[in-house]
Amino acid sequence: TVARLQPFASTIFAEMTELAVRHGAVNLGQGFPDSDGPAGMLEVARQAIADGFNQYPPGRGVPALRQAIAADRARRYGTHYDPDTQVLVTVGATEAIAATVLGLVEPGDDVVLIEPYYDSYAAAIALAGARRRTARLVPDGDGFALDLDSLRAAITPKTRLLLVNSPHNPTGTVLSRADLTAIAELAIEHDLYVMSDEAYEHLYFDGHEHISLSTLPGMFERTIVISSAAKTFSVTGWKIGWACAPAPLLDAVLAAKQFLTFVGGGPFQPAVAHALNNEQPWVAALRDTLSEKRLRLSAALAEAGFGVKRSDGTYFVCADITPLGASDAYDFCRELPERLGVAAVPVSVFADDKPAWNHLVRFTFCKKEETIAEGVRRLRAGH
Ligand code: PMP
Ligand code: GLN
Repeated sequence: TVARLQPFASTIFAEMTELAVRHGAVNLGQGFPDSDGPAGMLEVARQAIADGFNQYPPGRGVPALRQAIAADRARRYGTHYDPDTQVLVTVGATEAIAATVLGLVEPGDDVVLIEPYYDSYAAAIALAGARRRTARLVPDGDGFALDLDSLRAAITPKTRLLLVNSPHNPTGTVLSRADLTAIAELAIEHDLYVMSDEAYEHLYFDGHEHISLSTLPGMFERTIVISSAAKTFSVTGWKIGWACAPAPLLDAVLAAKQFLTFVGGGPFQPAVAHALNNEQPWVAALRDTLSEKRLRLSAALAEAGFGVKRSDGTYFVCADITPLGASDAYDFCRELPERLGVAAVPVSVFADDKPAWNHLVRFTFCKKEETIAEGVRRLRAGH
């Protein structure tokens, strides 16, 4: 392995899912649903394959999907992206993230991210030969909020790009309008590009709403919005994601993307277009069910003695292991599948400042009723 990839030898998801399989544990670690997306969408994919839609799609994605993405954003956020020049279909949000960093950042530039951060961000920055500088979330009541001073301190004259994710994996934080406004003001002051990872844009709870950074004054022209069908339509294996940005920025993303994968997911693209156009009621129902599962899992974790954090969005809830007399979340997660028959993920793997996050464990609630129930039963039995 080349030096710049050595710190990223294996992902935490592979490690914990392997442990879960080995010990027959309920996998509340890796965030993927164990049930299917909307039936109508699955049928469109089947039909597309049967109809011979099996060759390279157009480089920017099939027009119907780009139109559906643009229409969806116009409807929900009032932002207007030209489907021909400002929307790019990618191989999951993961490729959109990598192509954004590779397309916009020079070797030696600084990229600022907020920890804990999704693991692929750091790897993408390393691939680009850039340097990462971290700001952080801090406890705020029973949840988290941006530490604005840490963000100010992380920005240097070499900073080119800022990576933001809300709703936030792994903490389940939905950044407040005040936090997003502060981010926007700093981005404008320092003339930064901003990547807004909105993979969980539909998954918010308890009266929260998703605010896209691209909608704040002065932000449309500097923001690359990234999202994905994975979480919205429960198809993490399809790897259909997208980036939306003004044409000059999107062209930079495309310049990298075209040599990473060129294109991907031909027959799934019309299916996701169908889903964006027709399956919003299904997504609303998913949001409601997820919200309930979140409450059930959070209650069980509290009963088992964890210090449970508030989850306002995503697939995830974080829990403090300190009240259990444990102090190292990584060790805790390594032992959990064998000890209790449940798998989870330590939050420290999403941070550079490991000690600051080593008391937290991330659990996912994006699983079937019976999977959650069995996880809850095991957690209760173990306390
Ligand atoms: N960003 C965040 C915050 C994520 O949690 C994930 C994975 N769930 C991704 C990006 C990657 O999404 P995809 O599976 O579409 O590549
Ligand atoms: N995004 C999912 C998670 O955070 C899984 C991603 C992956 O397996 N790479 O759990």
